[in-house]
Amino acid sequence: METTAATDTFFTRKLAAKGQPLIFAGPCSAETEAQILTTAWALKDLGVDLFRSGIWKPRTRPGSFEGIGTVGLKWLQRVRTEVGIPVTVEVATPRHVEEALAHDVDVLWIGARTTVNPFAVQELADALAGTGVPVMVKNPVNPDVALWAGALERLERAGIRDLAAIHRGFSTFAPSRYRNAPTWQIAIELKTRFPHIPLICDPSHMGGKRDLILPIAQKALDLDYDGLIIETHPDPDHALSDAEQQVTPARLGEILGELKYRYRSS
Ligand code: PEP
Ligand code: MN
Repeated sequence: METTAATDTFFTRKLAAKGQPLIFAGPCSAETEAQILTTAWALKDLGVDLFRSGIWKPRTRPGSFEGIGTVGLKWLQRVRTEVGIPVTVEVATPRHVEEALAHDVDVLWIGARTTVNPFAVQELADALAGTGVPVMVKNPVNPDVALWAGALERLERAGIRDLAAIHRGFSTFAPSRYRNAPTWQIAIELKTRFPHIPLICDPSHMGGKRDLILPIAQKALDLDYDGLIIETHPDPDHALSDAEQQVTPARLGEILGELKYRYRSS
């Protein structure tokens, strides 16, 4: 494993400037230009650090909304230039990387259904090499720290140093109050292997329900996570994906106000 410390990255610079955990937010999926811009302006008022939006959605089963596609990247360009928040999208193929970068996307992320596949991760690492774009890697759907670590190692070996890890929880067959069980010790183990890589919690996909976002996010902050990524939609009940877990920007503001932050000196 290559262990070169990455001390000056998109994420560490933002953390140093803010002095507290980063907040990433935005809809599960881009649906319309109005939805994207309405959400982004509201999140700007909350001081959100990075605007998330799915453009290509890898769905577990066919027949549900699989993303608006390339046209949505033009809406995200307006978020960057008019609203002034950097943007991030999920990429699952080299073509997604090429299209996202052609539209000036600031940060890319690899989703849980892609992190499980070493060939797919390697193709992405090859496509990302030399681009300089920051990359976030979600945990794989299954509770396997080695697969998550392996994805980060493939990116590091391709020379990609601007990395963050997103903990979004793990599938279980057994009934659970969570959509994806946190199994916190897996993320803590990853952090011991990659202490230089910021760790972000995704309480939206862990909980799968609005009411679980606050307690999960608080637990992550108590464990000294470096940030949160929270799905936000102007009309969550009518969202085309992940309707039950998305919150309005107003509710996100309340959640951020209720969270207790520990003092961070670095
Ligand atoms: C998402 O972020 O909307 C998403 C599909 O997440 P995950 O890869 O964690 O399931
Ligand atoms: Mn989602």
